[in-house]
Amino acid sequence: MLTVEQAQARVLALARPVGAERCWIDAALGRVLAEDLRATRAQPPADNSAMDGYAMLWSDVAHLASDHGCGDEAEGDHGVLLTVVSEIPAGSWSDRILEPGEAAKIMTGAPLPPGDGLVVVMREWTDERGDTVLIKQVGAGVGHNIRNAGEDLAEGATYLEAGRVLQPPDLALLASQGVTQVTVRRQPVVGIISTGDEVHEPGNPLPRGHIWNSNAHALGGLVREAGATPRYLGIARDSMESLREVFSRVEGCDAVISIGGVSVGDYDFVKDVLAELGGEQEFWKVAMRPGKPNASGTLAGMPYFGLPGNPVSSMVSFMQFVRPALLKMQGRNELFLETVDAELEHELSTRKRFLFLVRGVLKPKRAGLGYTVSTTGPQGSGIMRSLSLANCLVAVPEDIDKLPAGARVRVQLLPWTRRAQAESALRQD
Ligand code: AMP
Ligand code: MG
Repeated sequence: MLTVEQAQARVLALARPVGAERCWIDAALGRVLAEDLRATRAQPPADNSAMDGYAMLWSDVAHLASDHGCGDEAEGDHGVLLTVVSEIPAGSWSDRILEPGEAAKIMTGAPLPPGDGLVVVMREWTDERGDTVLIKQVGAGVGHNIRNAGEDLAEGATYLEAGRVLQPPDLALLASQGVTQVTVRRQPVVGIISTGDEVHEPGNPLPRGHIWNSNAHALGGLVREAGATPRYLGIARDSMESLREVFSRVEGCDAVISIGGVSVGDYDFVKDVLAELGGEQEFWKVAMRPGKPNASGTLAGMPYFGLPGNPVSSMVSFMQFVRPALLKMQGRNELFLETVDAELEHELSTRKRFLFLVRGVLKPKRAGLGYTVSTTGPQGSGIMRSLSLANCLVAVPEDIDKLPAGARVRVQLLPWTRRAQAESALRQD
């Protein structure tokens, strides 16, 4: 029997990066960047005003700061009267150098006039008087209310690295550089094959003793969450002919998942068909519950994952083995589910020799920092509600079979409930 880490290492060895493609930036959200991006120009490109107000030489008004202290409003005519020599709305510019005694009316985002030693005073601290302006109050020293060229991005700086999953602020960085398209990893196409004489698509009548195909839908969702594209290849019946036929539909995929038929049942023919098709397979028992039976290898040169048929097992196996491989194929840096430590709310019994991944609900502690976690009731590998109610998997290591209430445990966050979501969703209860 392999440990989960050993099985993960074998699976990751099968995963090779897929190619890249160009993509419009607005379609690039959530895609994996395949290039390092350097700023081709400074952002902002020029020193500009952070306020609607007036630009002037600090030396003209510095004494107002010492007269009153920063932010104290002067009364009446007290202040410094300056001549307004230019006006710079956003979208325009002025080359007029300010001399002592002069000011430029300037709007937020407009470039500063040339010259050193400038400051911007916000309009609310001035009195506009025809061609002059009374500066009543000033803030801190030189540079106050001025956004410096390159303070966001210096020219030449790497601002996004290959492997990054692009997020909304990244799209702003790209657009601020004038970039319209980026090179991202192709989204791997993942073939999904269901197996079983008893399995039918929802929408069809259900003969006695049969079930609807729930796994393929959950796995399709997991594939999408992992940034890949599911391609549903159909249900193979438990016969060599049917399996052969459905497994022959994998052309054009980058990876293949099959569901069920990999354990020791009389009708578990998946391994025989794979051998016949020339796939290289390893059939494992992994020291993990749920999800002990597992098969992996290659089929037609692509990674193949034979997941167990039990619904919870198939999803938990996917998250431990398939998801990391799909992320690696896309050049992602973080391959495994994010983990946090939490305090167990109640005692928990498992069995030794297996890593138990118990479905749990992680909550922020009501007082202080950190989290508590409780489990989601009956944990049978067919009980999908245990996973539907969960936001995490509590990992109970192989060498432990009993944990008291209050024990510290490591939990894996489910990919669709990130930490922030878990917090905001659960704080209300
Ligand atoms: P197997 O590994 O084929 O023996 O399947 C184990 C269990 O999972 C059986 O109870 C199957 O009926 C169930 N199962 C297999 N495939 C699916 C599926 N696609 N959707 C829901 N349950 C399934
Ligand atoms: Mg079966």
